[in-house]
Amino acid sequence: MGMVSQWRRRKDMETVTLPHRNDPDGYDRERITIATIGSHTALQILKGARDEGFKNLVICKEEMAMVYSLFGVADEILTVEDFKQVLDNEFQNELIERNAILIPHGSFVEYLSPGRIEDELFVPMFGNRKVLEWESNRDKERKWLMHAGLKLPEEFKRPEDIDRLALVKFPGAKGGKNYFLAENPEEFERKIVKFGLSGEFSIQEYVIGTRFYPHYFYSPLTDKLELLSMDIRYESNIDGLSRLSHIPPDLEPSFVVTGNLPVVVRESLLSQILDMGQRIVRASKELFSPGLIGPFCIETVCTDDLEFVAFEISARIVAGTNLYINGSPYSQLLYDEPMSTGRRISREIKEAIALNALDKVIY
Ligand code: ATP
Repeated sequence: MGMVSQWRRRKDMETVTLPHRNDPDGYDRERITIATIGSHTALQILKGARDEGFKNLVICKEEMAMVYSLFGVADEILTVEDFKQVLDNEFQNELIERNAILIPHGSFVEYLSPGRIEDELFVPMFGNRKVLEWESNRDKERKWLMHAGLKLPEEFKRPEDIDRLALVKFPGAKGGKNYFLAENPEEFERKIVKFGLSGEFSIQEYVIGTRFYPHYFYSPLTDKLELLSMDIRYESNIDGLSRLSHIPPDLEPSFVVTGNLPVVVRESLLSQILDMGQRIVRASKELFSPGLIGPFCIETVCTDDLEFVAFEISARIVAGTNLYINGSPYSQLLYDEPMSTGRRISREIKEAIALNALDKVIY
């Protein structure tokens, strides 16, 4: 069972200037600790680190310490009152003393914010920090997907332009909570008033088809793309609506993620899926060198013409990979051992250390 301790600022602790950002030069590479924030995909990241022979550490709220302790996956559990404390120089010092490499995930980015990760986090972090800005800014994200040559849903600049079923998205509306459907400008106006929404929004063609969320991993060490697994998000209340024979006219669909379902695609669709991943990697190198490193996921809808439309990208480990802590049908083709995305990250770090190329996976 891991050691649990509550982090408190040590009065005697000198605050050093932290030179380590993107440069683990001062690190003892034989004694690296894989660290992450306790939420999202932390269980598989911790287990994966162990499976690859690393020590690990999880930073979590007190009420979550029991989870990491009872699953027995953490060597060290450090509790904090607020995740923002991770940015405290003294906290970062503690991580650096442990030769820590941080693994970002969805909650990690949400709690610390891309801007603060870029400006204030000095601890070496797996991946390219620039990517966080590109995936969280809607304009940049669209530019990236377009540059990659992926098919995107039509975007309506003004509500007056809505000429088919469209999804109105208010940013910051987590899990599509403040999304609504509108088929024409009148419906848009009516719903804006009804839901009391204001501020910035985007309007996207609503693409009808089956959703697929492929989980990729790009290794800059081998310049190879891997398809590790795939899921479909289970969303409330949209996924419950199909159980009703009659949908009340006042009932507005919502898209709040409540779970994930495992899925494989028709084998003939794999060439399109792999091609999309390769294009995304290529475009990332052109737009923000050195580009994407490690795990990412393209959120897609496959239409009945068997064409994929991409409506979003997540450029870090996604929660759907939690289905595959023991590997997936795809990862089993690539590896003769259970390979989760969490474990694959630690494998990349291990290989980078062996090749003396840590700087290729940490930016
Ligand atoms: P996250 O950042 O967690 O991925 P989000 O809050 O940014 O979520 P989106 O990913 O934009 O929300 O969308 C949430 C859900 O809405 C999707 O999983 C999908 O079911 C649906 N959705 C979004 N855009 C479209 C679209 N253009 N066509 C059809 N469905 C869509």
